[in-house]
Amino acid sequence: MKKFLSLFLIFVIITFCLTACGIPVQNTVPTNPPLDSIYTTATTENSNFSVHYIDVGQGDAALILCDNKSMLIDGGKPKASDIIYTYLNKQGITHLDYIICSHADEDHVGGLSGALSAVSVGAVYAPETEADTKTFQNFKRKVHKQGLEIQHLEHGSSFTFGSSTVQVLGPITENTSERNNTSIVLKILYGETSFLFTGDAEFDEEHDILEQGYDLSATVLKVSHHGSAGATSYRFLREVLPKYAVISVDKDNAYGHPTEEVLSKLRDADVKVYRTDMQGDIIAESDGKNLTITPSKNSDADTLTTKKSTVTSKPATNKNESNPKNIVSYIGNQNSKKFHLPNCHTLPAEHNRVYFSTRDEAIQKGYNPCQNCNP
Ligand SMILES: [Zn+2]
Ligand SMILES: [Zn+2]
Repeated sequence: MKKFLSLFLIFVIITFCLTACGIPVQNTVPTNPPLDSIYTTATTENSNFSVHYIDVGQGDAALILCDNKSMLIDGGKPKASDIIYTYLNKQGITHLDYIICSHADEDHVGGLSGALSAVSVGAVYAPETEADTKTFQNFKRKVHKQGLEIQHLEHGSSFTFGSSTVQVLGPITENTSERNNTSIVLKILYGETSFLFTGDAEFDEEHDILEQGYDLSATVLKVSHHGSAGATSYRFLREVLPKYAVISVDKDNAYGHPTEEVLSKLRDADVKVYRTDMQGDIIAESDGKNLTITPSKNSDADTLTTKKSTVTSKPATNKNESNPKNIVSYIGNQNSKKFHLPNCHTLPAEHNRVYFSTRDEAIQKGYNPCQNCNP
């Protein structure tokens, strides 16, 4: 009898614990289950999942569709509003469940105004920011016009999105002037596949996220900050261990994105890289197990070549006065305003040449990189 009583007591205690501590309940948005408890999500035969990395030039924009739910992360620059508007139309989207502004920089928030003008929106998230730019104000105005307020996401929280789960990994720090490091970082899990969105998070934010101990592993990595050398640390990449990466970047951008530093890390890690500057819109579709990635053009482009020159300086062979240090790295054409590597086969005639010792100098003076030698 004593034995029966103690068994009964154990049963009562267990039942109480399960009720009080809360067995996972169907999530409402956003809830806070421990992130390390979710590695895969259940998918059904009728469910579907796709990510559209939209080519918005220099900037980011990704449309994520899961079952009947939709989410837009970033929208490119203000002038990309038209691209976003057209893309949503083409997909027959009249309502977005979520708009995520990764951070307040114009190449991310700008085109979101296009989405807010085109369709109704369920909820809008952005990091806490004091950003007061015209672009951000315009975005806020459009959000208010829909009768919404911008909400913030807590790192460590998660929410369901159709049959996928969205985990919030960052930002860890908000409201700083280093906007890139306030980027919302999301990992979306669908079945056994997962997608990491990093905004423009740089080394500092990557470090802070790593310190939290989150599981960062992902099938597809949206490379942070357009492939800038200040992001995608070895340590971060080792934790993500992606099979595929997408770089959202404009061709001939003035920043030298993507950088050789990042491309070589991706090369070393044996990652298959897709790029919007070379391949246009890139669509990734998952059935929960397997992934199909389809770029809209140039599917076999050599995406790991850098546009940045590895030539740092070459001894000058002329005595041009515009180059007092007598070091020529780049040769500009004063008529076409293009600049070239000294070994380019489309160099301008001698009398049209202008000489630069650094790439930045050429860009600052309003010259654009030649498309043949990609300086
Ligand atoms: Zn950016
Ligand atoms: Zn940024």
